Amino acid sequence: MELSERLRERAVKLLSELIRFDTTNPPGDELECACFLAEWLNAGGLPAQTLETAPGRGAAWAELRGDDRPPLLLMGHLDVVPVGDRAAWTHDPFGGEVIDGCVWGRGAVDCKGVLAAQAAALVEAASENEGGRPVRLLAAPDEEVGGAAGLGWIVENRPELVDCWCCLTEGGGEYYRIAGRGFSTFMVGEKGQLRLELTVRGRQGHAALPGDDQALWVLGEVLRRLRERPIAYRVLEVNARLLERLLEGVEGGKQLLAGLRAGVDEAWKGFFELVRSGAADFEPALRATYGDTLSPTILRAGEKINIIPGRAELACDCRLLPGSDAEGFTAEITGLLEGLPVEVAVIEGHPASVSAYDHPVVGISRELTVRWEPGADFLPLLCLAGTDSRHLRWAGIDSYGFVPYPSDPLPADFTQRMHAVDERLEVEILGKMTERYYELIREVRRR
Ligand SMILES: [Zn+2]
Repeated sequence: MELSERLRERAVKLLSELIRFDTTNPPGDELECACFLAEWLNAGGLPAQTLETAPGRGAAWAELRGDDRPPLLLMGHLDVVPVGDRAAWTHDPFGGEVIDGCVWGRGAVDCKGVLAAQAAALVEAASENEGGRPVRLLAAPDEEVGGAAGLGWIVENRPELVDCWCCLTEGGGEYYRIAGRGFSTFMVGEKGQLRLELTVRGRQGHAALPGDDQALWVLGEVLRRLRERPIAYRVLEVNARLLERLLEGVEGGKQLLAGLRAGVDEAWKGFFELVRSGAADFEPALRATYGDTLSPTILRAGEKINIIPGRAELACDCRLLPGSDAEGFTAEITGLLEGLPVEVAVIEGHPASVSAYDHPVVGISRELTVRWEPGADFLPLLCLAGTDSRHLRWAGIDSYGFVPYPSDPLPADFTQRMHAVDERLEVEILGKMTERYYELIREVRRR
């Protein structure tokens, strides 16, 4: 069998098997799936092991040995998010069936497809046993709810497993076409997270006797101010390149860029207008790439329809750029709501994280991307959501979001499949990912 066919078939079979383990988190229950993966790797000639991070929770890892340099770490997670409305799925979310050229099921994209491609590629490289830098594969549990029983635990309790040259994992590598230009993303860092709870107070009473001082009227004003919050957009090293590329060749682009860099409000307004006219779908992502965001997500108020509630609670999910701090942001929100009977409390949060730009793996990934995707721009960028990379970065290990997805036949809605109904991965895409991982492994080993 030809190499590409062999890699594709191996990855497809493995992905189908991995999807059949229901690793919905919570509760996760990934240990069985981890044991299966370890056995699969063993059978493929890669000595693999498992470890238990909590009862029923587990990780699998294997190492392709080589010289005595620190290994490249390829990483993915075994847990998946809930399936949501099960009746809405076209095929069984835990069936792992191959139908219409796709592997169907929860985790097909996020993140079992990534693990299947990494494992299938590593087994191929192991069969050649050509030596060079070692490559380790780690399949961790508990990524979807923060990693306390997953990578966070491993970094804390089994640091030798993540002691590596650098890590490549999910969170980037997607190909985008924005205003006619192709971009292959490479996530160098990710935003920090801050969860706020706003408690609005008002006069409790009989619904038959309303007044202006009711908590929910106040809440309306709170929401209005949050929505109209002035945002100080910022250009940082981690998000600068996208802006430079987007404005390249645009009339007055250089001037605009200077304005954006200087934080001129009018310049940012003009930039978003430009985006709306050319690539409107990307406006929310671009706003989030250059600014701290706030999304109200949970609202609690009232128990009975004839009682005016004395309080309302609003939870807000905020994502902060590197350099923005939780204290400053909380103070900004508190200041914004001045004069209203509202208390702002921090529930939890963690800082942003950024890896080195000049790590050799960035250069290797760039070279390969240019070869794989002629004409595409390799784009170091900031990941808007959270991944396990942050646990490594906080421990001083460089970690990057880079899955070598192909631009062809990547569907336009690809990234929206994660966490959605009908999650599925094209056999052809999985095949190309696996081939690219294989090339990447060979490249890293021989340097
Ligand atoms: Zn994921």
